[in-house]
Amino acid sequence: MRSIDATHDPSLTSWVDSANLPQCDFPLQNLPFAVFRRSGSREPLRCGVGIGDAVLDLTALGAAAPRSGPAAEALGACAAPALNGLMALGPAAALALRQTLSQLLRTGSAHAAALASALVPQAQAQFAVPARIGDYTDFYTSIHHATAVGRLFRPDQPLLPNYQWVPIAYHGRASSIGVSGQQVRRPQGQLMPRGAERPHLAPSERLDYELELGVFIGAGNTLGDPIPLERAEQHVFGLCLLNDWSARDVQAWEYQPLGPFLAKNFATTVSPWVVTLEALAPFRAPWQRPAADPAPLAYLDGQTLRASGALDISLGVALETARMRERGVPPVPLSRSNFRDCYWSLAQMVAHHTVNGCNLAPGDLLGTGTQSGPQPQEAGSLLELTGGGKQPVTLPDGETRTFLADGDSVILRAWCERAGFRRIGFGEAAGTVCPAR
Ligand code: MN
Repeated sequence: MRSIDATHDPSLTSWVDSANLPQCDFPLQNLPFAVFRRSGSREPLRCGVGIGDAVLDLTALGAAAPRSGPAAEALGACAAPALNGLMALGPAAALALRQTLSQLLRTGSAHAAALASALVPQAQAQFAVPARIGDYTDFYTSIHHATAVGRLFRPDQPLLPNYQWVPIAYHGRASSIGVSGQQVRRPQGQLMPRGAERPHLAPSERLDYELELGVFIGAGNTLGDPIPLERAEQHVFGLCLLNDWSARDVQAWEYQPLGPFLAKNFATTVSPWVVTLEALAPFRAPWQRPAADPAPLAYLDGQTLRASGALDISLGVALETARMRERGVPPVPLSRSNFRDCYWSLAQMVAHHTVNGCNLAPGDLLGTGTQSGPQPQEAGSLLELTGGGKQPVTLPDGETRTFLADGDSVILRAWCERAGFRRIGFGEAAGTVCPAR
């Protein structure tokens, strides 16, 4: 378990002035990682760390870079077009690098003048998917989402009997994961409208987003060796935002008996920034369940889980239609929820995924599943917000939506706030729907 240390001290400030603004996502206490190059350049992609409105090029630290020790080894892994090498080194290396970066970037650092040339404004950077993602698994950890969606698909049995025992997931598709700014082509697929006698192939009419977090695996495990719950978070590097775009009409027809397939594998959008578990240490919360619910099986239960297995991360989704964009109307918030409300924790996802011996590798991605809260306005998808497309959402200038229209941009955000600590954020994961081919 990562602990709170001197890098979380809320009084620390950075010589990068923009990092000290109160609503900045990337103060000195955050230090999220990304993969980037200067926009329009042919420079190699490499790893950087977010500070204020800039990204610090981790391959350009020069004389400020440590020469030996775990921080030097971690930094060496950053001269690569993906974070996999850094992720593979495990939490001790990530912590050493965080402590070094915290020193280098804080107000009064002797290296400030030399490092200024290693800063690239985020507005002038092009970002990439932060890791080579070998495998992607999407969980279903919000019981509020599972119940609301279940009610629409199966009114007689909203929550399936396995839900309170098994952290449900499906194997997703890594090839179509893109980074924020992604253009998402409306997919076509088999549609079976209510009352029709046979399905037809057509562009989806019920295109939706899903408000999720992504979990990047750090050190992997050997095939055949399960990761026990108490050590599960030692295998997690950090979290990002994740939009699991979903074609609800395709999904409704295809999902039984084997779960989602073409309804979801056409696109997934992640944020460029990976917020480490080290940065999230101040925002832990007890993991708990309603007293009437069954306790998890022993391999999914433990003291650390109960004491601090949950994370207090606020999540939000906003929409910007093509017309709003033309008129300069800012994106309109659709809903908010919190990762604290999920039914299954990070550690439970990892322990369950590997209990049969399945091997996870550095850079593998787990989705948390749509994060919906207990209140109707905390729905993490349009499917839930509109009651299955029956109650349209009205936007500020009179437009309405049941599902997404061509030209719509969906913007996911997340942030953590707690009294006595500096607020940190995740940046954004934005994607825009373009017309079917
Ligand atoms: Mn999902």
